[in-house]
Amino acid sequence: MSQTLILGTTNAGKLRELVELLEPHGIACRSLAGLTDAVAVEETGATFAENAALKASLQATALGSWVLAEDSGLVVPALNGDPGIYSARFSGTDATDIANNALLLERLRDVAGRRRAAHYACHAALADPSGVVMATSSGTCGGIIAEEPSGAGGFGYDPLFIVAEYHRTFGELSATVKAVISHRARAMRAMLPAILRHLG
Ligand code: IMP
Repeated sequence: MSQTLILGTTNAGKLRELVELLEPHGIACRSLAGLTDAVAVEETGATFAENAALKASLQATALGSWVLAEDSGLVVPALNGDPGIYSARFSGTDATDIANNALLLERLRDVAGRRRAAHYACHAALADPSGVVMATSSGTCGGIIAEEPSGAGGFGYDPLFIVAEYHRTFGELSATVKAVISHRARAMRAMLPAILRHLG
């Protein structure tokens, strides 16, 4: 790989997973940490895809580098799609994972069984150094929201997200399993050919 790919996120959980998904394919990644020209991008889009494109494009323009950004979150049909694009700030602007999970459980208090179905979604965008989005991809992962948290793995809503195929939460499953079946893993697998074509 001749060029380094900048990952346009400051979320530590996402960063760790993105690096683990991309580096085995010879893609040299770096985070925004220490890049003084990086900008704080407001997520003003109406969809995951719009926010991913905004983050990739504005950060690439500011840095003059290739940037891969993703926007992701949890979609619960019984809550009309909430928390959706507001997943990170579900419980307010200073939200923590613990507060977000508590609010999710509270909102689902009277919802039982299969009506607790949910999915994670991840939309990714790859922007060139002039800010033009050259490729997009997406992935989903289906599950059920548990009635209480289990496991300390992953991040965000993972202790509450029971993966359909495994009957266990992402908090309980290993990082290796998550790297195969998660929404982010699926979006990155779909994005790989474009990254290798443009930056290889
Ligand atoms: P974003 O940074 O605006 O894309 O928001 C992502 C938010 O969605 C995170 O802060 C989590 O709340 C949630 N989220 C996305 N992907 C995951 C995941 O893999 N596990 C748990 N929570 C996730």
